[in-house]
Formats: sequence, C-alpha cells, structure tokens
Amino acid sequence: MVRVRSYLEGRWMDGDGAGQPLFDASTGAEVARASTVGLDLGAALAFARAEGGSRLRAMTFGERAALVKRLGEIVHANRDELCDLARVNSGNTRSDAKFDVDGGSSTLAAYARWGAALGDQRVMVDGDVTPILRSKRFVGVHLVVPRTGVAVHINAFNFPAWGMCEKLAVTLLAGMPALVKPATATALVAERIVALWEAAGALPLGVVSLLSGSAGDLLDHLGPQDAVAFTGSGDTGRLIKGHPAVLKWNVPVNVEADSLNGAVLGPDVTPDSDTFQMFVSDVTRDITQKAGQKCTAIRRVLVPSSRVAEVVEALSDRLANAPMGDPSERATIVGPLATASQRRDVTAGLERLIASGCTVAFAGGEVPAAGYWVAPRLLVAPEGGTDAVHEHEVFGPVATIVPWSGDASEAAAIIARGGGGLVTSMYSDDASWSGALLLGLLPWHGRVVWGSRKVHDQGAGPGTVLPDFVHGGPGKAGGGEELGGLRGVRFYSQRTAVQADGALLARALGLPLQ
Ligand code: NAP
Repeated sequence: MVRVRSYLEGRWMDGDGAGQPLFDASTGAEVARASTVGLDLGAALAFARAEGGSRLRAMTFGERAALVKRLGEIVHANRDELCDLARVNSGNTRSDAKFDVDGGSSTLAAYARWGAALGDQRVMVDGDVTPILRSKRFVGVHLVVPRTGVAVHINAFNFPAWGMCEKLAVTLLAGMPALVKPATATALVAERIVALWEAAGALPLGVVSLLSGSAGDLLDHLGPQDAVAFTGSGDTGRLIKGHPAVLKWNVPVNVEADSLNGAVLGPDVTPDSDTFQMFVSDVTRDITQKAGQKCTAIRRVLVPSSRVAEVVEALSDRLANAPMGDPSERATIVGPLATASQRRDVTAGLERLIASGCTVAFAGGEVPAAGYWVAPRLLVAPEGGTDAVHEHEVFGPVATIVPWSGDASEAAAIIARGGGGLVTSMYSDDASWSGALLLGLLPWHGRVVWGSRKVHDQGAGPGTVLPDFVHGGPGKAGGGEELGGLRGVRFYSQRTAVQADGALLARALGLPLQ
C-alpha cells in the first residue's frame, strides 16, 4: 500500500499505525494511507524557523523570486503526471486537474516576476518618509520585514496544487518558511509536488515542510512570530482562530472559508444578447468545473422574475450537454466529488434546499453506485430565496436560481443575506443600474466581476482566482485576504515605524530613503 509521507526537518518521514485511507474518487477504491501519529511537530516547526527562516532572510527579494520561479517551473514541467494523480485522488477531469496544477505554477510565476522587480532589497519601505516636527534630518518611516517564525498553511481538499502553491509563492517571497498541511483526503498531489521540488534540489533546507495527514498537536507549538493561513470550512476556521496558542501569542490567522457566491442578471439583459451568453457560460462553468467544488463557484443566481423560464431553459440546455463520467475520458466535463463525506454533505444540502421550498429545474442522469458521484442540479427558489439558500453552501455541482423583482438595492440586499462572500458577478450594460448594484455589493465581497457586452468573450469567469487581485471576503467568507500582488506579502511580514536620522538609516540598511 502506498504511504503518503511527510517532509519535516529536511527528511521524509511516515507516521505510526495504519493511518487514514485515501480513495480513488471515481471508484471508491483505496489508493494510499497517511499517518502523522508520533511525528514531533514541535521539532518540525523549530527546525523550519531556525533553518528555513535564516536562509530566506539572508536572501534578497530577487533571490527569493528566483527560488519561487524554479518551484513554478518544476510544477509546470511535471503537469501531466500531477494531472494523472489528481484524476485518481480527487476525481478531476483533465481540464479540472489542469485548472488546479496550472493555477499553482502560474501563481508561482507571477510572484517570481513581482519579486524580481524588487531586486536587491531585503526590507520594504511602506509609504513616505515623514519629517518629525520641523526637523529635516530626524524622520519617520515604516519598514516591512519578514516575521521570524514559520507560516503554517492548512489547505482544503479541492485545490491540492493551487492551494499549496499560491500560499507558498507569497510566503517564500515575503521571507518566511512554511509548513504545509494539505487536506488528508487529497494529499497525494501535494506530496508529489514537494517530492519533485526536493528531488530537483530546489528547496533550501527548512524553507518548505509538509505534513501529510491529520494536524495532531501542530497548533500547540505556535509561537509569537508564526502565522497561520487556513482554507477550509468556517467551522474549522473558527476552531483555529480560538486555539489557545493562537490566542496566547496573537498569532495572525488568515481564514478563507465558505461563501454563497452570487451572480446577478440585470433587468436590461435579453436572452439574445452577448451579455446573457456570458452569464449562462459563467453559471454553467461554475456548476460543472471541479464538480462545483470551488470556493468561488456561483451558488445563488439572481434572475428578474420575468426571465426565470428563459434562464432555466438556457442553463438546462448547457448542463444537458456537459457529459458526466470517467474523468480520464477527454469528453468528460463533470467528474465525481472528491470524497464520500463530500457526497454525503452535498446530498444532505440538496435535501435541505428542497425542504426549504426550492424545486428541481434540472437534474443530470443516473450516477455510478461506486465512487462519489452526484449529478448536476439546477434549483429554483421561491421569490427572494429561502434562509437555506442564503446560508447553506452546497459544495458540489448545484446552483439555485433566486427570482427577484425590484431595484438594484434590493438585489444587493438579497446577496448580502449570504453574510459576506468571496465573489459575486453581475451582468448588465446599464451603467446607472449597475453602479447602484456595485456600490451595494462592494462592502460584502472581496471581489466583484462585472460582465457586459464589450467584454463578454474576455476573462476566465468569476470562479478563477488571479494572483493580481485579492482573494478572500468579509463575514462568512472568513474575513481573510490573500494574494492581490505584493499586497499578499504583508500578512507574512512585520511593519514597524522607525524614527531616526534619515541619512544614517539609509546608510545602515542600504535603502534609497528620500
Ligand atoms: P475542512 O474540513 O475545514 O478542512 C480544511 C483543512 O483543515 C484540512 O486540511 C483539514 O485537515 C484541516 N483541519 C480540520 N480540522 C482541523 C483542526 N482541528 N486543526 C487543524 N486543521 C484542521 O474543510 P474541507 O472540507 O477540506 O473544505 C471544504 C470547505 O472549504 C468548503 O466549505 C469551501 O467553501 C471551503 N473552501 C474555501 C476556499 C477559499 O478560498 N475561501 C477554498 C477552498 C475551499 P484534514 O483533511 O486532515 O481533516
């Protein structure tokens, strides 16, 4: 039996005992086991801080960027093997797996570019140099330096490659070492990526550690210079934020959690328009891609009541032409869910939506008995939606049409019932109506995507997270923020105000202070 190993203290290790099984999502057959029992996680974190931290802080941004670039190149060079592994361990179609693996390598490449532009610096200057009182020499300036601890990354099951690479890109560029804990159920891809990096000699000692399996007592060993970046369910996020070591040391915790992402169709958009086609493509993609297991997938589709029948017809047509089946077949669009517990949760979530008053407008065909299959569903809620529609994220190939009538502020108020989200997309060519909706949506989201006629065939849809823009959202979405170009580096850094003789300070740190 394949054992998923951990890479700690610069060595590959395996935990004790039988371990937790990992399965082939299409068939339910066991493919590997992972155990972290008996691993010394306190020693692993101490090693990363001492060995990885000191090495990274000695590097300039340009040198860290070169490291990040190499990691991205290795992922890209091995994408076929990684995609095959994602098919087995996560049930990904070829296109789903590429979305994950290429998302990882392209995010590493983007941070390598941004880091290279910072060149020889080791310290970032934030904002202006400000004279103190009337002095010309005695000035104040904010300096940004890496935290001297370790960044603990706890990732969700749905993006084992991208989730790991995007966090690492930012963290390593910031100058912090990381210990990555992938979700146990899909840890094979993350383990393979770290093994490829290690085998290529691309990892300076201690800069990246991997814990494949349960977190055990990992968080008990956190200290005052550490940071935690978590992606997963809101419940686990709250548990981590309330962990005694996190509270004791005020460890910063970034949470990326559940989100009832919306799509709003403007009243001006007619079914014969390009804007309507863009809307239909985006909703269909988010129901089918990764079998709906994307944190950014559209869950609530606000449609003017008078257009519901046309939208149901258009979406049903598209979904009926999205074949579900063997993810290794090139024609397959929808694969299985990643785990048995996902299938249980999605089935229970669907029942909850239906019990709350939603009806099924489209249901995909029969699914195989073995493996973790759920056929795509399109539901229609009563006008304005139900509490379940606005509160319960069904993390699978499911979206609910919410009929609505009224003005833009009412549409924004309905979306706000989701309690804060990662992204909402809106589709309209009416600037005045859209402006009002946009202002209503902004406080509730990390990102808003506005689709309209002249951009209808551009962009990758709201479900794609680009490293240039922030990813995260207020409230239920976790209150976190990742990526956003160099903004993301801030989370792994300390910003300190320094008051000194400006010329002396510039000489001491080799900074171009004006
Ligand atoms: P989860 O059950 O919360 O697990 C997420 C991660 O937390 C896994 O690595 C898990 O490890 C770990 N974990 C669980 N309990 C822990 C504890 N007590 N201490 C430390 N770590 C712990 O979530 P999931 O089922 O994998 O992911 C699905 C959810 O993630 C969905 O709700 C989705 O919306 C959300 N998500 C959000 C984003 C985003 O960017 N906002 C992205 C993807 C997914 P084990 O696997 O070992 O249990």
